[in-house]
Amino acid sequence: RRVAPAVSAAPPAPPLYRDASKPVADRVEDLLARMTLQDKIGQMTQAERQAADPKAAARDRVGSILSGGGSAPTPNTAESWADMYDAYQREAIATPLGIPIIYGVDAVHGHNNVYGATIFPHNIGLGATGDPELVQRIARATAEEISGTGIDWDFAPCLCVARNDRWGRTYESFGETPQRPTAMTSAVTGLQGDHLDGPASVLATAKHYVGDGGTTGGDDQGNTEIDEEELRAIHLAPFTEAVRRGVGAVMISYSSWNGVKMHANSYLINDVLKGELGFTGFVVSDWQAIDQLDGQPGFTAEEVRTSINAGLDMIMVPHEYQKFMDLLRAEVEAGRVPMARIDDANRRILTKKFELGLFERPFTDRAYTGTVGSPEHRGLAREAVRESQVLLKNDGGVLPLAKDGGKIFVAGKNADDIGNQSGGWTISWQGSSGPITPGTTILEGIRQAVSPSTEVTYDRYGNGIDGSYRAAIVVVGETPYAEGAGDRPAGMGLDQEDLATLARVQQAGVPVVVVLVSGRPLDIAAELPGWDALVASWLPGTEGAGVADVLFGDHHPTGTLPVTWMASADQQPINDGDGKQPLFPLGFGLRY
Ligand code: BGC
Repeated sequence: RRVAPAVSAAPPAPPLYRDASKPVADRVEDLLARMTLQDKIGQMTQAERQAADPKAAARDRVGSILSGGGSAPTPNTAESWADMYDAYQREAIATPLGIPIIYGVDAVHGHNNVYGATIFPHNIGLGATGDPELVQRIARATAEEISGTGIDWDFAPCLCVARNDRWGRTYESFGETPQRPTAMTSAVTGLQGDHLDGPASVLATAKHYVGDGGTTGGDDQGNTEIDEEELRAIHLAPFTEAVRRGVGAVMISYSSWNGVKMHANSYLINDVLKGELGFTGFVVSDWQAIDQLDGQPGFTAEEVRTSINAGLDMIMVPHEYQKFMDLLRAEVEAGRVPMARIDDANRRILTKKFELGLFERPFTDRAYTGTVGSPEHRGLAREAVRESQVLLKNDGGVLPLAKDGGKIFVAGKNADDIGNQSGGWTISWQGSSGPITPGTTILEGIRQAVSPSTEVTYDRYGNGIDGSYRAAIVVVGETPYAEGAGDRPAGMGLDQEDLATLARVQQAGVPVVVVLVSGRPLDIAAELPGWDALVASWLPGTEGAGVADVLFGDHHPTGTLPVTWMASADQQPINDGDGKQPLFPLGFGLRY
């Protein structure tokens, strides 16, 4: 009997897909040929981090993880995000094929789930700046903060064209006409950088495709009832530009177009987006959106089949991901979802994973962890806040206020509240009032702006004011909300507290400067005559000093309205071509 010699053969050559010198397309084909159906279905599956820990995700070959709004590791620090991310990658690359996961978050105004991150103005304020180059720099800074926590993928920018301010997502829009959302696709370039495997490059997502901002009544997740010509001219235009800029992912809208759910719309996804526009990235569903296709809670095999065949490449399940994988596998085995569709989805997803360099560098680039909330980024955010302020009224040139001498009174529920000035999608999905993350409130910004010879008195409710003050600054408006929770089908005016505060302040007889912190225009026509000046501040984020910069003349106002300002709530939607007389027209904005 002969015994094999104990010399070891030369180690097998590493598979082609691991060779970074080979073209991405070749690496994708090589990898695809090695994958089982289970592997492929896994790539098309996105689970919430709380539904799949690192070991479970690797065991089940889940290709993508997300943090839903506010779903953060404990403690919620940049370091623990990075540790969490690295734990997912460690398990993923230890699987037989070692395909890294791609991790997505909603960093929609800075890396807003992370405590201590820089919170930039929401899109409506960035739209008011009219400055795509600034928006690109903000996206770059955001990408650095995201990269510092390991994350590869951002569900931003939102390119919705908000046509009805009753919609709770109006503040996620850069504007009500396609021009500003289209120009602000510079955010795609900022997030993704020059190329996807460059330093701190993050995959961008154009969302929500398409018509999310055009629903009847401004209903969130509602029905957009317009013809195809209007859909293309208004809502498709920004997506066309995002695709031209090479956006890596597109998220489908919860909304319907003329009664057909977008997640079932093969024409708009397969034919228009992937065919006509030539989109080569991958298409992801919205959160539990396929559950809605049949109007019943939960998802069925039919909903899985319909959405995948409509062109969805990845489903944000996000909880019952094993059930999703089982259903999709059965649909493929039964021939109801073609294998070619599965391979196409995998090619699209794997191409982005290779392009991002995830196979070569799966772990967090900790060189960027220190950029989270850095002074440089906060300085940039302050610049953005200044540029986003829109001066709407300035009777008698009350603004800019002098920095020297006398007393200034500050009032209003949004004067000294980081949570309120940041709005929804800040630390938690809905956002919340209070000192939820570090920053400078508008009141603190005012205190920093004035000279020591000026006394600043603050009372939230306006109590204690008298005629001895040279001006009063009243910061009122909305409190945080997100998505449908912000829909305002009824009134769009100021709340009772704001009205009472304003009344108290106005009876002192001193010049009144109103700063409106809100996600959209509010119905203020009845109150406006009693105010000397009005600044639309939108949702400025953590750097409230930028508001003070405009109030005290450190920055002359340059912002202009990205949305028409209604004269009354019943004018909504105001831009339907019916010749309604607004309070302030689109593009309006005073200078000193
Ligand atoms: C929103 C998306 C978001 C997703 C993931 C959904 O509810 O519509 O904009 O990206 O949640 O958090």
